[in-house]
Amino acid sequence: MSATPHPREFAAAADAAPPLIALRGVTRTYGEGEGATTVLRDVDLDIGAGEFVAIVGQSGSGKSTLMNIIGCLDRPTLGVFTVAGRETGAMPPDELAALRARHFGFVFQRYHLISGMSAARNVEMPAIYAGLPTDERRARAGKLLARLGLEARASHRPAELSGGQQQRVSIARALMNEPELILADEPTGALDSESGDAVLALLRALHREGRTIVLVTHDPQIAASADRVVTIRDGRIVSDERRGGAGDAGANVPPVPASPGPSGANASGSGLGEAAAMAVAALVQNRLRSLLTMLGIIIGVASVIAMLAIGAGAREQVLDDIRKMGTDLIEVKRGARNVRGGGDDVRTLVAGDLDALSRLDAVSGVVPETDQSVVLRYGGIDHQITALGTSSQFPHVRDWPAVRGVFFSPDHERRYANVIVIGARTAETLFSDGADPLGAFVLVNNAPFQVIGVMEEKGIVTGGGRHDRDDQIWVPYTTAGARLFGQDHFKELFVKVAPGHSLAAAEQEIFDTVLARHGREDFHLRNMSAAIAQAEAAQGTFTVLLGTIAAISLLVGGIGVMNIMLVSVTERIGEIGIRMAVGARRADITTQFLVEAVMVCMAGGLIGAALGIGVSIGLPMLDDGWRAILEPEPVMIALACALATGLVFGLAPARKAARLDPVAALARN
Ligand code: ADP
Ligand code: MG
Repeated sequence: MSATPHPREFAAAADAAPPLIALRGVTRTYGEGEGATTVLRDVDLDIGAGEFVAIVGQSGSGKSTLMNIIGCLDRPTLGVFTVAGRETGAMPPDELAALRARHFGFVFQRYHLISGMSAARNVEMPAIYAGLPTDERRARAGKLLARLGLEARASHRPAELSGGQQQRVSIARALMNEPELILADEPTGALDSESGDAVLALLRALHREGRTIVLVTHDPQIAASADRVVTIRDGRIVSDERRGGAGDAGANVPPVPASPGPSGANASGSGLGEAAAMAVAALVQNRLRSLLTMLGIIIGVASVIAMLAIGAGAREQVLDDIRKMGTDLIEVKRGARNVRGGGDDVRTLVAGDLDALSRLDAVSGVVPETDQSVVLRYGGIDHQITALGTSSQFPHVRDWPAVRGVFFSPDHERRYANVIVIGARTAETLFSDGADPLGAFVLVNNAPFQVIGVMEEKGIVTGGGRHDRDDQIWVPYTTAGARLFGQDHFKELFVKVAPGHSLAAAEQEIFDTVLARHGREDFHLRNMSAAIAQAEAAQGTFTVLLGTIAAISLLVGGIGVMNIMLVSVTERIGEIGIRMAVGARRADITTQFLVEAVMVCMAGGLIGAALGIGVSIGLPMLDDGWRAILEPEPVMIALACALATGLVFGLAPARKAARLDPVAALARN
């Protein structure tokens, strides 16, 4: 039935010298159940070291399937397959990969070169996965290319080479790791007869040097160049003929050492450096896509850094503003604490309270403050502006003097004088024509008032949602109450604690005094240290909010990276198949894609950091209203997050790539 020896006969021969390749009862079935098709049936075949075997058969007879099993790219469904006496059935995928790297060199009909790489890089590939040092690898690839007459083409991409040249590059690649066995699947099938003859001559020359060759072809004429022709039909071996006096050369060749191959046979595969170099090449090749992939990370990292810097700046500004108001101030506000509407209807905070508090030892000054919007008319133009009704002690208590003219006096208060002091910005706006504000008359809610002073400029107060304090007018509280606001109670009082008195004790005394006068707690106190603590707490909440936004944008960026990496894996399945055929282990493929994802994220992170730092520095330079405080921690954290994003979101695509089936992946080329 079959020309191959019976298993029992073989067992006797094997004691002497195990053949390089041995198949026993190998069956390969695709699919399961109803749709299952058996492509190889009960194949027994030995190939000894040094043989030149042609496997010939019609298209679809199962030649490639057989070759894939011999090359450890595929596994038999049934039967036993050994390489140099080692049974492969129970080997994990990585061990099969190592076997491929060491023992087999593949030559495919369609060359299967990686299109993005030069001829030299393609030839080097198997040595990368065998762990050969870079210099040795380069030198060896150069020699092989030179030997095949391609030294002038080393830096060319596959697309720049003819079919015959590409096939010679792929033969050079097959020779890279000094394999025992060269498996050539229809190596001349895509070539013109001249190039095809050259390839066959090359294979014969390699055989004369002592290499084992398995040549798969549908063409009996091509098969005739081999010493032994195995004919396969419908998945069965139908004849096995030796010719040219080769006899059963295989049986006489000494056994192959278990672990030959290049120096790096036991090396741990391609290093991180190699993976990084390959990742850079892949990223550069898809420049625009890499940039778009990074965009989410760039925006995420830039916004974290800029928002935190600006947030910290805003916080400092608020605290500065509060400190500017004075930490020795106690605010007495109408209404109980935390009452809706701020106790607008409470009318009990009056001039009597002002006098009572002024008499306390611990108090160096008290001012009432009530603000309302008024219409100020000057030069025929109306301005909506805030009027602050307060007392002559305002410059002392609030540490805010008039820089031109004077602030109003106790005398003005007593006389209900129609005088105002105006803010620095108000002065600029109203008297932009250069007229002197001092002594000028303006209409406030249609009543004539004389300007007697201009306040010192305090700058924009951003915190607390307050109005521009340089753009308001100061009116004696008596005049304001009677003529402008129509009320004799105040919104709040500011009490300045005298030097040498404790804030807490003063606060208690103030509380007792007001409570005694009002008979109930229709007011509340606030001191500025408490306000600072409150502002800091609010900023803490703000920081958490920013952090959350940043985390979300990084998450979105990470999903973008994963998405693109999955696309990249799908696109490069063919390339992954080639890498696996030349010996890449799962870990090598995982590392490569993971490194690629991490590099995209880190590049995005660095660009984002530069952008964030740029915004943090640039914005305050463009506009005085912004302040930013750059600290190293947010930058570090953002970059660490970018790195973590790359690892986390790169892992799934990388594993997907590593788990591909080599044969199926190769078929995508
Ligand atoms: P050859 O190389 O001799 O032309 P192949 O070994 O490629 O033949 O294929 C042999 C048979 O197996 C063909 O009929 C083919 O359709 C079938 N075949 C190959 N690969 C698969 C697969 N992955 N799933 C199902 N059938 C397959
Ligand atoms: Mg085929």
